[in-house]
Amino acid sequence: MVSWLPYKKELMIVVHPEYCPQNHRCPVLPKCPAGAISQHGFAAPTVDRDKCSDCGVCVKSCNVFEQGEDQS
Ligand code: SF4
Repeated sequence: MVSWLPYKKELMIVVHPEYCPQNHRCPVLPKCPAGAISQHGFAAPTVDRDKCSDCGVCVKSCNVFEQGEDQS
């Protein structure tokens, strides 16, 4: 007998530093409702996976952020 288990893909936000000019304060940072985005100087932003709620606001705001599948 075959039983099917619910399968839920783990999504995560992927940051593409190559799309970021890294010469300004990230305008998406204050838009993140979870406070999950941080930036050191003008470097490309990073996302704290533990804080991120996968709301997608950053993905809609800037193409540096992409909703991807967890590869770990
Ligand atoms: S998906 Fe939402 S919570 Fe996660 S980093 Fe982007 S804006 Fe923040």
